[in-house]
Amino acid sequence: MSKPITDFDVNNLDPLQALIWQFEMGADEAIADEPLDRFKASESLSRQAGLPGRAALPPNGGGAARPAMPRPAGGTGAMTPPPPMAPGAGFLLSDTPHEARQSARDLAAAATSLADLKEAIEKFEGCALKKSASNTVFGVGNPEARLVLVGEAPGAEEDRQGEPFVGPSGKLLDAMLRSIGFAREEVYITNILPWRPPGNRQPTIAEIAVCEPFVRRHLELIGPKVVVCLGGSSAKTLMEEDRGITRLRGTWKEMTLGASSVADVTAMFHPAYLLRTPEQKRLAWRDLRAVAQKLS
Ligand code: URA
Repeated sequence: MSKPITDFDVNNLDPLQALIWQFEMGADEAIADEPLDRFKASESLSRQAGLPGRAALPPNGGGAARPAMPRPAGGTGAMTPPPPMAPGAGFLLSDTPHEARQSARDLAAAATSLADLKEAIEKFEGCALKKSASNTVFGVGNPEARLVLVGEAPGAEEDRQGEPFVGPSGKLLDAMLRSIGFAREEVYITNILPWRPPGNRQPTIAEIAVCEPFVRRHLELIGPKVVVCLGGSSAKTLMEEDRGITRLRGTWKEMTLGASSVADVTAMFHPAYLLRTPEQKRLAWRDLRAVAQKLS
């Protein structure tokens, strides 16, 4: 096992160690031939919003890519309120998850079509995952589907192609759907998070909370009869439960979608888990038949 690398010695690494460090930080693949300086992009965002860019900060000012809020000269320690945002500057990462969630709520509520919602998510700057992702992975399939499946977050292949469930677990999901008589094009598929967490790490509670208004609005705009949560993160979020997937799979709840529509929501094991644990396919088959029955 490689020796853990600290921030302190990170600038003096030999190339192999540097590669290992990047891998451990979640940069596990090259997505372009040339490097892209994302700090520059965030500086131009800061400029649009009238905030000091990274270059204007002291060396330890505010951490990684976040512009720090200006402090009053009087030294009371109190934060000055942020300056008003420039039009089109989007939501800044320096705001708290609570503010980011509220911003996501407002944007989601204002979207009256899937195209609007996609545009709102693509412009949203309140979730740092967007910075490391190659694509916003919105959703795919029939916008009037009676069946919607919701996974956790895009993986490497989904991030590359900008479409949910196109990697190995997507192949299994397609086969599972076929087994109950559905083509991929007949249903709708999306995720709780539209951006890939680096290195496929588990999404944090804050990331899920910030993005949740988008997935709820996504479901409202489609208005399906049945929603299937794939895996624990999706099930806990949409079924509003603390129990894990082993307990939640195969159970059903009603889910209110907007003012007038209600869907039946259930959960099943995530296809990626089924690929690793094929003996659980027996239970997945049982859950799939229950979904087919609900829709018949
Ligand atoms: N896993 C998910 O949860 N979603 C995808 O889109 C791909 C893999």
